[in-house]
Amino acid sequence: MADEYDYDLFTIGAGSGGVRASRVAAAHGARVGLAEEHRVGGTCVIRGCVPKKMLVYGAHFAEDLEDAKQFGWDVGECTFDWVKLRDNVLNDVSRIEGLYTETLENHDVDIFHERAELTGAHEITLASGKVVSAKHILIATGARPHVPGCDGHELGITSNEAFHLDAIPERVLIAGGGYIANEFAGIFNEFGAKVTIINRSDTLLRGYDHSLRDRLLQISIAKGIDFRFNAEFRGIEKTDEGCLNVSMTNHDDLEVDCVLFATGRVPNTEGLGLDAAGVQLGDKGEVIVDQFSKTNVDHIYAVGDVTDRVQLTPVAIREGQAFADTVFGGGEPVAVDHTVIPAAVFSHPPIAAVGMTESEARNKIGDIEVYQSDFRAMKNVVAGRNERSLYKMICEAGTGKILGIGMIGPESPEIMQAAAVAVKAGLTKADFDATTAIHPTMAEELVLLK
Ligand code: NDP
Repeated sequence: MADEYDYDLFTIGAGSGGVRASRVAAAHGARVGLAEEHRVGGTCVIRGCVPKKMLVYGAHFAEDLEDAKQFGWDVGECTFDWVKLRDNVLNDVSRIEGLYTETLENHDVDIFHERAELTGAHEITLASGKVVSAKHILIATGARPHVPGCDGHELGITSNEAFHLDAIPERVLIAGGGYIANEFAGIFNEFGAKVTIINRSDTLLRGYDHSLRDRLLQISIAKGIDFRFNAEFRGIEKTDEGCLNVSMTNHDDLEVDCVLFATGRVPNTEGLGLDAAGVQLGDKGEVIVDQFSKTNVDHIYAVGDVTDRVQLTPVAIREGQAFADTVFGGGEPVAVDHTVIPAAVFSHPPIAAVGMTESEARNKIGDIEVYQSDFRAMKNVVAGRNERSLYKMICEAGTGKILGIGMIGPESPEIMQAAAVAVKAGLTKADFDATTAIHPTMAEELVLLK
């Protein structure tokens, strides 16, 4: 039956979700083709999480080298070579891209390095003109940075270009107050740039607990990052000196050397032939899917950022895996559980959270108990760095069931991953209290919360 078609599965997009789905489907015995117009690995590997985290490591040395002096080290005069870091990061990105490609090839997935479009119910036409057919089609085309449509917007860059800069700009304006804005603000600031974040509202990192957001704001200001709130772009103009003059509502103009747009990401659904195929899209252009990642068209599925459910790599990977197991695994259908997803912002210092925020819990549950620890990490005390961490646990009153944990402080994403297991498992504050602390650590604060 399947031989009616060239492939059992054709995947469009080789990002985290598409690669996982293709590899697992192939392992289940499916004949798989995959098209990718850019590079294998997608946003996360090529121009997102992976290179960003390497820059975060690189940036943090600015503080570590400074702090080292208080620990007795004579570090001499330190200089920073952006081009060296950039090239090392880009080389590693290429290495990982190679590994992803190798994995697909080892599973006999046919990779087409070109754009693909649906041109019939089961037909895909590649940019080269080659036409293939597939029994099932998976849309895994991800999302791209949203750029506000103000005058001169083309003078700005997005996170895509930030990894390829020739030099660290002296003055950077970052538009947006979310993940990418705060992560790149930290990176550029540590590399010595003067950073200004401008956001259309007065809220940073919507969705995170207000105490953590406030703490990040205080620390960021203390580190020298400027913030302008309730500011919307009016326009960007190039000055005679080659700088960028940015005008905005409610604030004076600002002259900078680089404007970075970090104002959300939009699903890549244009030009894929989805209209003609009858695939239903949402208001933001996202592909609408059910719990098994199936669209309204029976044999067309979608996973990852293109569905705009939760724009996180591990979620896309789970969706890809569940799709492949459901359609090709021969067992029960598998739905991804989108609740209690831990996440982190790799700001300086990082934030990590799982479950509900305090205000969310108050609204949804009502009767809650909040425990917290506001402390200075031992390393920061010796270093003379006046930067406090904050851990927060939100519990259901009476049962003590943990509804959410949030933290800001050194290594908080590393600590949160283990704590998230406990929250997902439905453990209580008493379970944490019954666990002996590992001393001296920052993580021990989690079992000593008052
Ligand atoms: P976010 O959704 O995190 O933040 C977008 C920011 O831009 C918000 O401050 C928002 O303001 C503002 N904004 C939205 N639309 C407009 C607009 N039209 N004009 C002006 N400002 C606007 O998006 P990011 O771009 O930072 O990141 C995209 C997604 O990628 C994240 O949501 C996350 O899912 C993922 N990501 C995850 C990371 C991680 O796991 N560490 C790292 C980077 C990205 P307001 O709040 O007022 O709406």
